[in-house]
Amino acid sequence: MRYLNLRSLGYVFLLSFVVLSFSFTANAEEEVHEDDIIVGNVICLLPNVADGTVKPVIASGPCNGHGEHAHVVLDTRTKEGSVYAVTGSPEAIERLEKTPARKNVEVKGKIGGNQDAWILSVD
Ligand SMILES: [Zn+2]
Repeated sequence: MRYLNLRSLGYVFLLSFVVLSFSFTANAEEEVHEDDIIVGNVICLLPNVADGTVKPVIASGPCNGHGEHAHVVLDTRTKEGSVYAVTGSPEAIERLEKTPARKNVEVKGKIGGNQDAWILSVD
């Protein structure tokens, strides 16, 4: 009888351990997906109204003096070179524009969209 009780107690401990370690794993995965990091080039798309086009430029310093323009990030880690359209709050975009380094830099944010149209929401 005593032996049986000890054995079932052991099962309870084992079960709690399995449940606990599973929930820790689940939490760790959530954290990874909360903020994605892309390593790539931040590219300014400077509008050329006369041509009706945009000129892609890798700035050599802060670009907030170039007027209103959009940005994309080219992921340089992948062979396909996925391009992410950059979105975010005005403050987040301002922080990005004031960042001097643009080549092979880490850009943190949330990835959305799909393989035909990736979006990176910076924060
Ligand atoms: Zn720019």
